[in-house]
Parts: sequence; C-alpha cells; structure tokens
Amino acid sequence: MALTGLEIFKLLPKTNCKKCGMPTCLAFAMQLAQKRAKLDDCPDVSEEAKQKLAAAAAPPICLVQFGTGDNQVQAGQETVMFRHEEKFYNPTVLAVTVSDKLAGQELKERIEAINKLQFERIGLHIGVNAIAVTNDSGSADAFATAAAAVKDNSKPPLAIILVSDSPDAVAAAVAKTGESCPLIGKATPDTAQAMAKIAKENKCPLLAAADSIDALAELTEKIKAEGVENMVLSLEGLNLRDQLYHLSKIRTLALKKTFRPLGYPTMSLVPDGDADQQTAYGTSLICKHSSIVVVNTVEPYAFLPMLTARMNVFSDPQKPIQVEPKVYPIGEPDANAPLMFTTNFSLTYYTVESDVEASRVPSYILVVDTEGTSVLTSYSGDKLNEKTVADAMTKFEAENLVKHRKLIIPGYVAVMSGKLEEATGWEIIVGPRESSMIPKFLQEVWK
Ligand code: SF4
Repeated sequence: MALTGLEIFKLLPKTNCKKCGMPTCLAFAMQLAQKRAKLDDCPDVSEEAKQKLAAAAAPPICLVQFGTGDNQVQAGQETVMFRHEEKFYNPTVLAVTVSDKLAGQELKERIEAINKLQFERIGLHIGVNAIAVTNDSGSADAFATAAAAVKDNSKPPLAIILVSDSPDAVAAAVAKTGESCPLIGKATPDTAQAMAKIAKENKCPLLAAADSIDALAELTEKIKAEGVENMVLSLEGLNLRDQLYHLSKIRTLALKKTFRPLGYPTMSLVPDGDADQQTAYGTSLICKHSSIVVVNTVEPYAFLPMLTARMNVFSDPQKPIQVEPKVYPIGEPDANAPLMFTTNFSLTYYTVESDVEASRVPSYILVVDTEGTSVLTSYSGDKLNEKTVADAMTKFEAENLVKHRKLIIPGYVAVMSGKLEEATGWEIIVGPRESSMIPKFLQEVWK
C-alpha cells in the first residue's frame, strides 16, 4: 500500500532545510505522496527510511522501455486519469504487424511500407513507432526469420515487438534480435515461467496476457516472482467496448488504489478489419488508455487520424504548440514582397504558411510571440496589440526586409489597424479573415 503524506513525513529528517526545493519536510512529503516529487531530491534521508519510502516513491504505473538508440520507445509512467488534470507523459506507441507467414519480397515490401509511415504535421514529426512481428505460422523458424528481416530492414524510429504463444518461437526470434531489446511475449498463466526466463536472460520487457483483470493481476505477480519487473499488460479476446472499459479500470486501480499488480503499461492488438475499422478502433484505444496500440493496416491515410488524435491527447494542455517568433521567408522574397504577420500558435502559423506557399507569391511572414495562442484568442487576451506587433517589427528589422512600408494584417483584427498605423508609421492593409483566402488576396489584391 502507498504511504500517506503524514506517514512519509514521519520518515523524513524533519529539519526543514529546503534542499529539496520545498519550504518544509511536510510539503515535500505531500508532494512525494502524490508522486510529484522524487525521493532523491532529499539528500539527507536515511537508508532505512529510503527502503520504506521506495514503495511510496515508485510511480503507480511503471515506465517500460524497449528498443535501443534511435529505435527506443517508452510506455507507461502516467500519473493522471485525464489529460486536463495535469498532462499525459508518454504518447501511445503505435505499432504495425508483420506476419511471419510473409517471406521473401512480400516480407520486405511490408517492412518498407511500414518504414514510410512517418509524417510531418504543424512542423512536428509524427509516425509509427514499432513493428510487431506475429507468429501466425506457428513455426519457430519462420518467426525467427521474420524477426531478423524486421531487424535488418526496418528504419528508425521503429522498435520491435515479438508476439507468439510459444516460448520456443520467442526464444528463436530473440536470438536473432536480442540486441535490439524487443518487447517479447506473450506470457500466459501456462507459459509465464518459460517466457519470464527468456525475458530475464535477454533483459527484455515481457508482455503478460490474460482474458480478465483478475487473471492479469495474478499473472504479473507470478512473473514478478520469476524476477521480471518490466511488464506490459494485454487483455485478450475482448470487443472494443469491453476493452475500453477494462483499460479504464486497470488505470483506475493503478492510479487511485496504487494496485501494484496492475501498475504497468498496456498493449492492445486491434482485430483484423479494413483500414477504416482499424482507424476507428485504434483511435479509440489511443484516447482511452492503451499505452501501445498494434494495427495491421499499412494504408497511410489510416494513420493520420490516429496520429493526430495521439498528438492532441498527449500535448501538454498548459503549453500550446508554438513556432519560434521571427520572420519566415516563403519562396525567395525580395524588397517588394508582401509582409504579413500572424501569431506563433503552430496550427495558425502552418495554416497561413501553406496558404502563402499555395499563392506562389514570394512573401515574408512575421510571427509575433503571443505565447502560442491564435489570432482572436491573443487579441482578446491583449497578447496581440499594436505594441506587440510594432515591437516584433523592430526586433526582426522589418524595415530592412521591404521598401514599401506596407503591412498586411489578419482580417479578424482589422479593428487594430488604426492604432497599428500610428504605432508603426506603416500603411496597414487588412488581409482576409480566413487563411484559405490568402492566395486569392495575394494574387489579386496585393499585385
Ligand atoms: Fe526536509 Fe529533506 Fe526537504 Fe530538507 S531536503 S526540507 S530534510 S525533505
């Protein structure tokens, strides 16, 4: 059981020395009880107390890492049920299957298709993180061959997951991929001992699979007794509704009750279906607590909703995604090129940037620092006003970029044009309200 703040306090030095960054030992104890501080932050805690406090300091959901170097991924270590309570830490690992029934050219083409599932959105890289090799053939040799092909032909950032019911097949595949530190499994009550032995010998995390929460809790205790602490949970044979219900229940028990046997990340295998079904299923699991989601489609269009949902769910609600405030040249603008401004909210900037690019009119975009908020939000919050725009123009030397002294402003803030003209001495031209109208505006109005 987790210790309460007061129980933790009794074990601390009680000198209130503040070395931990907290004003008192009691404040530190309260932070520790809520998993918001690390025990290491107190340099004076005794060894005896350390042992007793280790349980309280451990994260309620373990961090599990697999893969190595550029291919390493991590799952778990979440501390809240809902994003708005704080934030989620480790984005769902999205994996794609490679069946060991494939061989030769077909196998290579499948791996190559997965390699290509990397994208860029609002200036950030998003993509698939892992390949799950599945032992559909039932043959240990075929499984090992497919695993070796994945290891040799996959490109970063793809970690490897080996999924088989057979300890022999897993042992054969690990022999070919062990240095890649794959996630291996799946251990069931019948194979727990043999699978745990392979995981322990190869220092790989182990997938524990059962058809109910109770059976999973028993299984993880059994595997732990074999000396394996790094585990990922998998619920077998459930439809989507039950899967979502049980994933929520596992997280609730791990976080609210600090129930250690379920304090591990989870993995969900999306059942066979067309790409649309895979997308719907996968997106639901990303939104509701699955740490690793394995799909079997390689259609690029199917991944964009899943990756976008992941990006949204795992972004920090306190920190909007921002671009660097500065002047961005689009194309090769000269001193006659249009100069317009927008805010440093990523979504706003990249929407404007793509529309300016589409216009084929070389231009400058001045990005004003509005702490990552959009045009209307920043204007209503007074983060976008004539002073912030004028300051940005001075800071980024707008007068050296163009000779026409005309500034295009977003149509939504037309109301600031008078004050901005006074503050800058430049002619203010009110641009379109919608970014999609920028190409027409630049081609017809500006020219
Ligand atoms: Fe107390 Fe340790 Fe923090 Fe000092 S560093 S205030 S002893 S908890």
